[in-house]
Amino acid sequence: MAMVAFAIGLKRADSGEPTERPPNIVVIFADDLGWGDLSCYGHPTIRTPNLDRMAAEGMRFTQFYSAACVCTPSRAALLTGRLPIRTGMCSDKRRVLFPDSGGGIPAEELTLAEGLKAQGYATACIGKWHLGHLPQFLPANNGFDTYFGIPYSNDMDRVADSPKGRAAFWNPKVKYWNVPLMRDTRIVERPADQTTITRRYTEEAIRFIREHRSEPFFIYLAHNMPHVPLFRSKRFADRSLRGLYGDVVEEIDWGVGQILQTLRDLKLERQTIVWFTSDNGPWLIFDELGGSAGLLRDGKGSTWEGGMREPGIVWWPGRIPAGVVTQELATTMDIYTTSLKLAGAEVPKDRVVDGLDLRPLLFGQGKSPRDTVYYYRGRRLMAIRHGPWKAHFITQPAYGRAKPTYHDPPVLYHLEHDPSEKYNVADKHPDVIAQLKRLAEKHKATVQAPPSQLEIRLKP
Ligand code: MG
Repeated sequence: MAMVAFAIGLKRADSGEPTERPPNIVVIFADDLGWGDLSCYGHPTIRTPNLDRMAAEGMRFTQFYSAACVCTPSRAALLTGRLPIRTGMCSDKRRVLFPDSGGGIPAEELTLAEGLKAQGYATACIGKWHLGHLPQFLPANNGFDTYFGIPYSNDMDRVADSPKGRAAFWNPKVKYWNVPLMRDTRIVERPADQTTITRRYTEEAIRFIREHRSEPFFIYLAHNMPHVPLFRSKRFADRSLRGLYGDVVEEIDWGVGQILQTLRDLKLERQTIVWFTSDNGPWLIFDELGGSAGLLRDGKGSTWEGGMREPGIVWWPGRIPAGVVTQELATTMDIYTTSLKLAGAEVPKDRVVDGLDLRPLLFGQGKSPRDTVYYYRGRRLMAIRHGPWKAHFITQPAYGRAKPTYHDPPVLYHLEHDPSEKYNVADKHPDVIAQLKRLAEKHKATVQAPPSQLEIRLKP
């Protein structure tokens, strides 16, 4: 079904319209990296010269968002262009998929890889999948020609005799987490040696680029790091003033540099668009082992800005003007729509797609089409941003048993004046509140939520 819907785009491209070779597309997705964790986003002691150079040669977003504040729903949104509430990839009971989960990304969803494959792209998924580890949900059944990675989070499959509680994270050993490393549909290593995982993912991406240099390719490189437990290879041990977390981010940065240099060496840099962002904010309950959202409030698991606003860098020498810092709004779902457009594919019309086409912004021809961001926690719409204004209808601590607080009137912040969400100005702006409430209701009317995939469990 997925192929049929996308075949329309292919046919159009074949029907005599002038088409140049569509660009290669590379999406590098960090895990739990905070908005404040790169040098080019102001971190004082983490060095990220390669990402800083990527930003200097491309475009850096100051207001770039993931579509959810935790892993599974965020990844589902990136690859489908749709809010997780529309795909069943979120839940109020279990926030992500686990090794005992029986659900995953529904077959009828049209992934970015499926769309690009129909346009003739070679497609690779490398790294963390977390959209269902059973065979029917794996990358091979979602448009990817190849897969190499850990199919869920690197802190899962904890072994019973590892140190209790947080102690295992403060002195992590590979054997404490019996996570599998897969090649396509087979487990090739268990536990995955996480100390070399960032380096091996990078090498895999470089190999794929070299092998497919003469045809369009799509690489979705989703690092498991810097999600705890934190591991880095020997070369990066004790290098960063920021400690273990800094070492881990600096190895990811090294990998980005290797990939961009490979593209330059092969003279593919003018035919390749590369994105870098993160799935959700820093995991603050892990103290120094978690990252930083900079001046943004809170982190992973919350719908305050720190939970969903991410570093966002996009690079395409010769097409995207160099050295642009944009304050325009964009989300990971826009990567989906923009990529399909760049490939000459149709964006699916038989369903709601939340992603928007960023090409005019990227190419210096206009503004972002996005003026609104929706903040979901599980299946509940917690907050909405429209222009500079953000209204929270519900707030809740990121983790723990604390109940949600419902706000009527909602709590209102002006994010351009007050990016840290400190000063509730609801009293002064009843008109804005009325407008944001209307927008939220209008949005809810477009949502048909299927049953949650995250609540399906394997029989013990
Ligand atoms: Mg994450």
